[in-house]
Amino acid sequence: MVMIRFHILGAGGALPTFSHNPAAYLVEVDGAPLVLDPGPGALTRMAQAGLLPRGVDGIDRVLVSHLHPDHSLDLVALLFALHSPLPDSRAPMVIHGPGGLSALVDRWRDIYGSWLEPRRRELVLQEWRPGDGLDLPGGGAVESFAVDHPQDRLAAHCLGFRFRDAAGRTAVYSGDTGPSAGLTAAARGADLLVVECSTPDELETPGHLCPREVGRLCAQARPARVALTHQYPPAAAMDLAAAIGNHFDGPVVQARDGLTLTVPHQNGESA
Ligand SMILES: [Zn+2]
Repeated sequence: MVMIRFHILGAGGALPTFSHNPAAYLVEVDGAPLVLDPGPGALTRMAQAGLLPRGVDGIDRVLVSHLHPDHSLDLVALLFALHSPLPDSRAPMVIHGPGGLSALVDRWRDIYGSWLEPRRRELVLQEWRPGDGLDLPGGGAVESFAVDHPQDRLAAHCLGFRFRDAAGRTAVYSGDTGPSAGLTAAARGADLLVVECSTPDELETPGHLCPREVGRLCAQARPARVALTHQYPPAAAMDLAAAIGNHFDGPVVQARDGLTLTVPHQNGESA
């Protein structure tokens, strides 16, 4: 079916809470599943949500926005699971991420040795520069763009992603970023913007967004619908949608773990 389903399994930042765990997303574009930003516990939460009926055999592609552990640590868990003799898929496992992804996996291999070698599947690591992307089997696509977030020692840059279904509808994911011209351009007219909102205005942190900055972004880019994610506990505890409503009059939903958003919007959907 031609549509985008955006499952938010981790609506928090680096500090796990009951309702807001670190990054974990699964995006289905015209039925093709893409694991997005597998932070700590991401695979477990996907399985608990019923999104991995074939276990890791159901995962062929992973997108990583940047290399911070709260967005990438479950790559270790995934590769270790693929070393098990039980999974049966022979399809290549393709992981797309920013420059530095291969160096990170090499460091992990130094530590874990062959335990991270998939037993039956070729592992393909594809480093994307901003603007790089991929055509998807059903006629959709995903494209990366640059965002503004402090890099770690390995990363060349940090990415956001723009998903497009075969009908041209779009969902945009910010990754982690401060105010960013790349994000504003990517979000312009998007059907759905899933955007980080890490802290309240008074705790504004460089490289991240607060409600005032998200409001400013949305007022410029005018996405049809907005979902807020990457909420640290002080942000999760407040009414972020109301705070953004001071700057932007469109629909805004404050995500919790387990929220699924669809494009086009489905009748009866909570957000
Ligand atoms: Zn980060």
